[in-house]
Amino acid sequence: MKKHINTLCFMCSVRCPIQVEVENEQVISIRGNPHVPAMKGGVCPKGVAAVAALNDTQRIQSPLIRTGERGSGQWKRVSWEDALDYTADRCKAIFDTYGAKSAVYCERANLISDISKSFQKAIGSPNHFTHDTVCKGSINTACRSMIGYTDGQINADWTHAKHVVLYGRNVFESVEIKAMNSFMAALEKGTKLTYIDPRVTITAAKAHDYKMIRPGGDLAFNYALMNVIIKEKLYDAPYVKRWVEGFNELSRFVDPYTPEWAEKETGIPAAEIVSLAREVSRVKPAVVFHYGYRGSHHPTEVYFRRSILILNALMGSIESKGGLFIKKGLKDAGYKAGLRTFSSQKFPEMEDKRRFDGCGQDKFPIADPAHGVGFMFPHAVIHEDPYPIKVLFAFRYDPLLSNPDYNTNLKALQKLDLIVASDVNFGATTALADVILPESFFLERSDPLQMGSGLKPAINRRIACVRPRFDTKPMWWIVKQLADRLGVGQYFPYDTAEDIWKYQLADLDIKIEDFDETGFVSLSDKAIWWDRNDGINFKTPSGKIEVVSDLMESHGIPSLPAYQPLDRQPDAFRLMCGRCVAHTNVMTQNNLYLNHLVPENRLWINERRAEELRIADGDRIEVASGAGKGEMRAFVTDLIHPEAAFMLHGFGHKEIDSKRSYGKGVADALLQERLYDRIGGSPALDHTWITVKKL
Ligand code: SF4
Repeated sequence: MKKHINTLCFMCSVRCPIQVEVENEQVISIRGNPHVPAMKGGVCPKGVAAVAALNDTQRIQSPLIRTGERGSGQWKRVSWEDALDYTADRCKAIFDTYGAKSAVYCERANLISDISKSFQKAIGSPNHFTHDTVCKGSINTACRSMIGYTDGQINADWTHAKHVVLYGRNVFESVEIKAMNSFMAALEKGTKLTYIDPRVTITAAKAHDYKMIRPGGDLAFNYALMNVIIKEKLYDAPYVKRWVEGFNELSRFVDPYTPEWAEKETGIPAAEIVSLAREVSRVKPAVVFHYGYRGSHHPTEVYFRRSILILNALMGSIESKGGLFIKKGLKDAGYKAGLRTFSSQKFPEMEDKRRFDGCGQDKFPIADPAHGVGFMFPHAVIHEDPYPIKVLFAFRYDPLLSNPDYNTNLKALQKLDLIVASDVNFGATTALADVILPESFFLERSDPLQMGSGLKPAINRRIACVRPRFDTKPMWWIVKQLADRLGVGQYFPYDTAEDIWKYQLADLDIKIEDFDETGFVSLSDKAIWWDRNDGINFKTPSGKIEVVSDLMESHGIPSLPAYQPLDRQPDAFRLMCGRCVAHTNVMTQNNLYLNHLVPENRLWINERRAEELRIADGDRIEVASGAGKGEMRAFVTDLIHPEAAFMLHGFGHKEIDSKRSYGKGVADALLQERLYDRIGGSPALDHTWITVKKL
């Protein structure tokens, strides 16, 4: 009999609401949840390819213990009992010598993050980081420094915006289905899109105005926009007076950064900068300068992301219809409590609270400890700073291929005593593991409930659609089993997903059956806006938007430091990386369907520069930086700035067990040098200079 099950996709981190058609334990189709109108019944190619991922025989099919060299692909299949006992016994022996702080837990932030953070607290290690640290550490820090919320706690009102400005935020390839359906509808009704990027993307092709900016020039561009907006008094004066702290300092600061100055730094004509400033101001406050999703391009990232938020503040667009909004939760919807969390239990005091990354402490005092600074992991392991790190739990996350400087990452991983990996598929880090605890695919498992904060908050549920194809388990089960064996099982009072849901809902008048019909429980019919004149709850010390930031200044970090010009290397290219619609980070390159769509990455180079190097489209080339080198094919085009080169992120896999993606393309991580934003903690993934030569 056919069943239609409403659940949440997890082919990427967006977690779209989907409906899965199942018959005789086979998935027949996947579409957008019809109870969520903004999905319009659609999913992206990755969502469709979930069927291929589910049935893939190249998945990890059972618990494995390594028998050969790290990376040799030699494994012994073992029972869950044996794999868990082995892991716990090895951990106990290491913790006896080095303490539990010698374990670092990393993961892709997900529906069990609350449980994994509880695990790390229960065993007594302060060391945890998420994938968000790579993409969003600097955006997160910029947002907290200005409005007191993280980037995850705000969003854009795509439906009502009248002008949207995107800086390399390639929304029509790195898609969020609901948001982009709304934005497409708005574009059809006349919303303007300005897109700024050294590379012509699908999003650029849909823009009313595309600006091919010099790589790294966005900060100078924004300072010049502010210069015009302030000099011509184009800002929302009452809003600025009520809500912006530090406007006078900002006015003085941007005074020298004229459009003519910016033209030299960015390559964008001064007249175009003036024109954009005037154009957006005419439709304020329904303006979105989008703060970005991956904000890890250059060492000045935190200032660039702050500059975007400042532009929104000048437009009066934060918490204004058609602008940015602060996401609302259960309490805003009138509930007295929230979802109960496991990580808020009382855990034993840690012996040593120093973190491996110094996040929220000495090294990165204002970066967000909730996500950490994963980029520091190799440094901590290799230099034993601040103490020896011996164990890595890599749960659904691949730090080897996700973080810059692959060779240093590899050296650090090889130095560890124990790598415990848990994932659905083999990845670069999984392939080096000592023990693999395979996770069930998202269509095979139920997970903790998800709080869907937003203008109309809801609680969402992922529920198993089919039985596991192989000998795999949900992550929350794996974590509890490990906790039991390490003597801290009492912090995980559940046996089933239903037990977890009941625990989460304990303080609310919402029942599990309430999710059955649609897959979610809506908490508000109406969009919840705060009064922009007097009711915005900015969580900064001043209660305002802090252009001059208390968080920064109190740590001796200037809010408005003088602009540092970009360097130039005429014989090299500034390497940029990014995504396409067919792949999720480093996770999907071996998927049968997606590998067929995009099997390898190529290096985009400008045709004039290619001609100088005698490189033709499709030629094999050597690409080299101070961090490493690789061989790939060239994509010669006039759709990229002459100073830039671009490659898709996520290729260059060398896991023997992933046969489709093995050896295809080059990992951007192999070339990216250890450059980073010292304030926000994000790596500077688009700042490395590379050289290119024909083979
Ligand atoms: S954007 Fe695509 S892959 Fe990501 S959650 Fe939505 S449907 Fe799934």
